[in-house]
Amino acid sequence: MTDFSRMWIGGQWIAGDMGTRPVLNPTNGTTLANVPEASPEQAIAAIAAARAAQPGWAALSPLQRGQVMHRIAALIRNHAEPLARLVVQEQGKTISEARGEVGGAAEFFTYFAEFARRIQGEILPSDAPGEQIWIQRVPVGVVTAIIPWNYPAALVSRKVAPSMIAGNAIVLKPHEETPLSALYMARLFAEAGVPDGVVNIVTGGGATVGAALTSHPDIDLVTMTGSVPTGRKIMTAAAANLVPVSLELGGKAPLIVMEDADLDLAVASAVTSRFMNCGQVCICNERMLVHDAVYDTFVERFITATKALNIGDPMLESTDIGPKVSALELEKVERITAAAIAEGARPLLQGGRPETAPVAGGNWLLPTVLGDVTPDMAIMKDEIFGPVVPVMRVRSFEEAMQITNESRYGLSAYLFTNDFSRIMRAVQDVRFGEIYVNRIGPEALQGYHTGYRNSGPGGDDGLHGLEAYLRKKTVYANYSGKSPVGLMPWNGR
Ligand code: NAD
Repeated sequence: MTDFSRMWIGGQWIAGDMGTRPVLNPTNGTTLANVPEASPEQAIAAIAAARAAQPGWAALSPLQRGQVMHRIAALIRNHAEPLARLVVQEQGKTISEARGEVGGAAEFFTYFAEFARRIQGEILPSDAPGEQIWIQRVPVGVVTAIIPWNYPAALVSRKVAPSMIAGNAIVLKPHEETPLSALYMARLFAEAGVPDGVVNIVTGGGATVGAALTSHPDIDLVTMTGSVPTGRKIMTAAAANLVPVSLELGGKAPLIVMEDADLDLAVASAVTSRFMNCGQVCICNERMLVHDAVYDTFVERFITATKALNIGDPMLESTDIGPKVSALELEKVERITAAAIAEGARPLLQGGRPETAPVAGGNWLLPTVLGDVTPDMAIMKDEIFGPVVPVMRVRSFEEAMQITNESRYGLSAYLFTNDFSRIMRAVQDVRFGEIYVNRIGPEALQGYHTGYRNSGPGGDDGLHGLEAYLRKKTVYANYSGKSPVGLMPWNGR
C-alpha cells in the first residue's frame, strides 16, 4: 500500500503544514487517500532545495543524467499496471486509456534521455584574429511546474523529463484533485537515484502553493498546463519578477469534415476525439464543421456510434467513457449545455445525468450532440471539456476555414478531406499550433505541442519543447595574447 501522506521535498518525505486534503474517486465518491496540504512556506522551501541541488545535477554529464532517466523509465514500466489503476481511481479515465497514459509517462523519460548527446551549441567566426566565439546551451536553473488533473501521470513526465536532461532542478505541483500519480512517481524517482532536491513534488492548493511557486523571485522558468484564467494569473505573477513562462492552456479544436472525406474514418475519429477521457482533453474535438453534402449522413452515423459507447466503471476494459473528474466539472458542463439550448441549439442526442448511475456516487454524464448551432453561440466559442459536442453545417471549405480561425483558442484543428489543394490551403491558413489531417491525436513526442492566442504562449515536447528548459550563453574567447581593446567595430578598427 503506497503511503500518500507525505510529499517529496529535498529528498525528504514531509507532511503538510496545513494538514491534509482528501482525494476522491470520481467513479464512486469514496475517499482514496488524504494527501499533504503544503503551506506556501513549504513551497518556498522546495524552491530552496531545488536551488541547492541544481549545480551538482548540472555538473553531471548529460549522459549521466540520462542514465538516471532511463532507470526512471524502466521503473515506470515495471509499475505500469498499479500506476494505471491509480490514474483510473483518481481521475476516472478508462483503464485502457490509463495504460496508454502510463506508457507515455515512461516514453517521455526515454525520449528526453536520448538528447544526452544532442544538446548542441554553435561556433561562430570572430571579427578579430585569435578569437573564438561560441554559443552554448546551459540549464535555466530552477523550474516550477504546475499541472492539471486530466493526465496526472503523463504530465508529470512531460515537465520533469526535459527539465532533468537539461540539467535543471524542478518543483512540481500536481492538481489538488489528482495528486496520487505524482506522489507515486516520486517514489520511483527516489528509487531511480534522483539526487535529493533535483525533483520535488509539492501537493496543495492552487491559490496557496501554486501561487507561491509561480510568484517567487528565485525561479528561472514557470511551466504550466491548465486553464486560461489560471494561466493569466501565473503569467501576471511571473511578470513581476520577469521570469519567463511557458503556458499550455485550453483548446476549442474544430473538426472539419468535407464532402469528399472518408466518412468511416471521419466518424470514428470524431467520436474518439470527443469522448476519450470523457471529453477532458485539450486537443478534443470541441466543434464539428461538416459540409452540407454529407451533413445528414455524418450526423446520423456519429449519433449511432455515440449511442453504442459503453459508459460505466472505468476499471472495466469494456468501458468507453468513465465519469467526469469531479462534481464541479460535471455541473460546469451541464451549465454550458443548458445555456446553448437556451440560445437555440437543438439536442440531436440528449445526454445529461443517467437515470440509473452505472456506479453509485460517481459523476456520470451521458453524451449530448447539439445541432442548429451558430458560430456566435457560446458553445461554439468556449471550451466544453466534457462529453457534449455541437455540430454545424457549412456550405464551403472557405466557410469552414473562416469559422475555424474565428476563435480565441488556437491549439489543435482536424481536417478530413482527400483534396490535396484543400489540405495545403488549410496547412497555410489555419491559425492553430497543430493541424491533424485525416487523423486525430495524440500528439507525438517528437512534435511540438503549442497553441496560438489564448491557448497560451509556450509549448511542450520535441526539440522545441526542450529549448524552453535551456538558455544560451555566448562565450568570447581571446587567445591571441593581445588586448582586444580597440578591436570593436564601433571603435574605428
Ligand atoms: P486549472 O487552471 O484549474 O488548474 C491547473 C493547475 O493550476 C492546478 O494544479 C491548480 O492547482 C493550479 N492553480 C490554480 N490557481 C493557481 C494560481 N493562482 N497560481 C498557480 N497555480 C494555480 O486547470 P484544470 O481544470 O486542472 O485543467 C483543465 C484545463 O487544462 C483545460 O482548460 C485544458 O484545456 C487545459 N489543458 C491544456 C493542455 C495543453 O497541453 N494545452 C493539456 C491538458 C489540459
